[in-house]
Amino acid sequence: MFERTPMIAGNWKMNLSVEEAVALTEAVGSGIGNVSDVEVLVAPPFTHLAAVKRAIDESRIFLAAQNMHSEMSGAYTGEISGRMLQQAGCTHVILGHSERRTLFGETSEVVNLKVRAASFLGLIPIICVGETLEERESDRTFEVIKEQLDVSMDNFRADQMMPTTTILAYEPVWAIGTGKTATPEQAEEVHQFIRLWIEKTFTSGVAAQVRILYGGSVKPENVKALMTEPDIDGALVGGASLKGDSFVPLIHYREA
Ligand code: PEP
Repeated sequence: MFERTPMIAGNWKMNLSVEEAVALTEAVGSGIGNVSDVEVLVAPPFTHLAAVKRAIDESRIFLAAQNMHSEMSGAYTGEISGRMLQQAGCTHVILGHSERRTLFGETSEVVNLKVRAASFLGLIPIICVGETLEERESDRTFEVIKEQLDVSMDNFRADQMMPTTTILAYEPVWAIGTGKTATPEQAEEVHQFIRLWIEKTFTSGVAAQVRILYGGSVKPENVKALMTEPDIDGALVGGASLKGDSFVPLIHYREA
């Protein structure tokens, strides 16, 4: 039986000034206190990465970007490569967030190319999947999730190898930024499905080690119930990660 270290990850999206991001990083760093068995990660905007990296200093906070390009370099105006993210201090990168998929037309095929590039560089991908309300209401949740997993990790499937450091995030689109959280049971059902997909596609050993985060209106009031579910290994948090007052209690979810 593998112990999966819980992770609380903050996705700051296109929010906060550099100064605010640095102050929040410092507040989170000191707020971790003596919690040593929860990984904490922040994903600031690209322009804030270097300053946030400096603010992380000795604290145990991992740094992620919110997106990257799949090519290593070249004529891709406005884009950022995985290598550049590493130079800015990132160890992780969020890929296939639903806002990238719906607002910027990012397909699972594109996500797959990014996952491949990130893994090649040794950047840990946090790969997001999730169904829309319409898909859930028409009973297509599992079909949609399977398709997103199959295609977004096509390269891993071709290699018959998924690095166990890979992190998946189940983020039902209808719960992101809406205040509507999936119930712990609804989330667990999909997390179980994802873990079974990993087991069938790779091995039970990989399935036992890969962490699956839940995202969608996670806040201090609901985090503990979600984290109690056996297949929920952490939270990817938008809104509640923008203030120390709500981010820090998430890290201390066991005391909630
Ligand atoms: C997210 O953007 O990944 C997210 C889950 O946002 P929120 O927590 O605000 O729903």
